[in-house]
Amino acid sequence: MDMTLKEVKEGQSARVEKVGGSGALRQHFLDMGIIPGTDVKVEKYAPMGDPVEICLHGYELTIRLDDADKIQVEPIPEAVRQRGAAPRPVNEHLGLGEGGRFHPKGSGDPLPEGTTLTFALVGNQNSGKTTLFNQLTGAKQHVGNFPGVTVDRKDGAILGQRNTSITDLPGIYSMSPYSSEELVSRDFVLNEKPRGIINIVDVTNIQRNLYLTMQLLEMEIPVVVALNMMDEMTGNGGTVDVNGMEALLGVPVVPISAAKNQGVQELVDHAIHIAKYQEKPQRQDFCDENDHGGAVHRCLHAVIHLIEDHAKAAGIPVRFAACKAIEGDRLIIDQLRLDENEKETLEHITLQMEKERGLDRSAAIADMRFSFITKVCDSCVREPGESREQARSRRIDRVLTGKYTAIPVFIGVMGLIFYLTFNVIGALLQDLLAMGIDALTGLVDRALSAAGVNEVLHGLIVDGIFEGVGSVLSFLPIIVTMFFFLSMLEDSGYIARVAFVMDKLLRRLGLSGRSIVPLLIGFGCTVPAVMATRTLPSERDRRMTILLTPFMSCTAKLPIYAFFVDAFFPRHKALIMIGLYVLAILVGVLVAFLYKKTLFKGEAVPFVMELPNYRLPSARNTLQLLWEKSKDFLQRAFSVILIATIVVWFLQSFDFRFDLVEDSQSSILATVSGFIAPVLAPLGLGDWRIATSLISGFMAKESVVSVLEVLFGAQGGVAAVMSSLSAFSLLVFSLLYTPCVAAVASVRRELGRRWALYVVLWQCAVAWIAALLVRLIGLLLGMA
Ligand code: GDP
Ligand code: MG
Repeated sequence: MDMTLKEVKEGQSARVEKVGGSGALRQHFLDMGIIPGTDVKVEKYAPMGDPVEICLHGYELTIRLDDADKIQVEPIPEAVRQRGAAPRPVNEHLGLGEGGRFHPKGSGDPLPEGTTLTFALVGNQNSGKTTLFNQLTGAKQHVGNFPGVTVDRKDGAILGQRNTSITDLPGIYSMSPYSSEELVSRDFVLNEKPRGIINIVDVTNIQRNLYLTMQLLEMEIPVVVALNMMDEMTGNGGTVDVNGMEALLGVPVVPISAAKNQGVQELVDHAIHIAKYQEKPQRQDFCDENDHGGAVHRCLHAVIHLIEDHAKAAGIPVRFAACKAIEGDRLIIDQLRLDENEKETLEHITLQMEKERGLDRSAAIADMRFSFITKVCDSCVREPGESREQARSRRIDRVLTGKYTAIPVFIGVMGLIFYLTFNVIGALLQDLLAMGIDALTGLVDRALSAAGVNEVLHGLIVDGIFEGVGSVLSFLPIIVTMFFFLSMLEDSGYIARVAFVMDKLLRRLGLSGRSIVPLLIGFGCTVPAVMATRTLPSERDRRMTILLTPFMSCTAKLPIYAFFVDAFFPRHKALIMIGLYVLAILVGVLVAFLYKKTLFKGEAVPFVMELPNYRLPSARNTLQLLWEKSKDFLQRAFSVILIATIVVWFLQSFDFRFDLVEDSQSSILATVSGFIAPVLAPLGLGDWRIATSLISGFMAKESVVSVLEVLFGAQGGVAAVMSSLSAFSLLVFSLLYTPCVAAVASVRRELGRRWALYVVLWQCAVAWIAALLVRLIGLLLGMA
């Protein structure tokens, strides 16, 4: 029977027979638990028919039809899933040392006092690592309900424990890295050799999470397993026999709830204990000689003996090295420096195993691990009934990823966000703040006049600083509101669904659904958006996504839009705002097509992603994020923008002999900017003051407005020198032209100097052309 997963109908189940494909992707499938013998249920096809959401090992995964087509299956009538072992109460956790099993407290041979205990926090994506890290260290890292929020490592000391250091790493599913951020985690564990590993396991997803645990146990580094999300587990009738699991895994296992801060102290005690006494995992041998005739068991042990000396010499844990050597991991095999004879022996042993086991090497190793996991789960875990969270997710998903509802809902949600930000919440707060700032400006103005302060100083303070920085400050509410909604999208788990729904569309552009996340974040700020691309598994997709993020209009450009829309088109405020966003996206789409045909030929990599349950974002997290963003914005307002304002004010007040000028037309600034103005003249933007403001926008976009305020006085001044057509050109130009220094720097960090330069020049060129088109069309239509 030749049937593939692609042909399985919605709601039906099938058993995997063979996993086709090759290379890293195939390894990734195996690591995610798609191995021969696994039962898979097709949950749902995306609204556009591709990709498909499947359920296996108790969790949800999305894959594309092309990849599903590589997986051969055999239909089974009804998913007959074992619900785990007989009920067992959650047992009290014994104290340190586990009755002598893991080490009687205080005996043995501890590391010398004062040694810094370094820990790696390792776990699957979205298992709660950052939440735990924040609890442990008191830090305020961003938590999100989306795979791939932590893209870089972060360090901190455990609260109240001297000489400790803990590192929050990006989530990984296995020690065979699939994306660049996963490599960060693997390299950290392998090369930096932390004193201990805190392996965080999402119990509601335990089978897949333990797969990584198995590999960590091979690392010859002390491990403590933290079973996170115990609150959700016990809340729905699930239990774990913690002591039983400890006996099987040979490491301490501590049930915790990172979000509720339960069990965290106990976890710390255990972690410090195992690190201090360097208690290695007591079990590394997971292959069973009775499993399928023991072929894998014999092969593994033979290879272990074969490469033992090489692994020692290369400083790689021997069991890990053996598994990797059997799987054919080139990186590891090269590091082992086997000679020809040994390589041949390795190949012979492996071939023999494949023959006896009837599976290829990678599948056989993955299967060995999952067999052991099944044993552990059968004897120690009673899975909860469908939890309230899952049931709720399923109900919500019926609408949010439904065939006919998904896309209207997405458009509706984005529309609502923009509407609330620009027209209701943000705008209301902005008006209030603007009134406050105006009142304060007036007050200071009168006070300075009354005190008879020098006229130049007076001008600087009122016309320079207050007008300039004040005009930017009033945008704080809009920007914070926008970030609030974006973080709600991210934390609730909705963004993962958007990726699922939009994958097919993005594929047409040569991207994958995963790219939607950085792109949406780009509406907030380009810097984190560029960072977020690290979760993309292929370099090609990552590059292309980075180059497209500047087209997602960031919040810092909002002041520019608002300024001009207020001055020129007050009656069509919302329409023009939304029009600008849509225009940028359309240009981005065009550019993406262009890239696909030129710079980035080829296909996007497969889309394999986990869909997390929906969760209500915690108030604490949200408030924290808003606070961070406000702080960030204020810092910028009072550094870059303040300085830019002052510099511009000086340059426009003095001439080259440093005499105060009557008319700024003869100032230093006018002379210098006059050189650039001709470039912008065809766009109807030939005024030197506009050129100046656009240049200052390279430092920070908000300063375009503050500089204009300084140079033109109030809004009326601009309206006098520009037609509304020019204003429209200017809007389009600032929508598309070079991102700010911070964004360019982040592009440089990710892709190097040449690409950063490319972004600056390319965006300016695109902006110039688009603005010119706007002007020409406007002139044709008779708008002048
Ligand atoms: P990371 O990707 O591993 O760093 O995971 P995060 O720390 O970003 O958390 C992922 C999601 O799980 C967030 O929505 C958290 O609020 C949630 N979460 C973390 N710990 C717990 C827990 O103990 N119980 C519950 N119910 N949710 C949790
Ligand atoms: Mg994280």
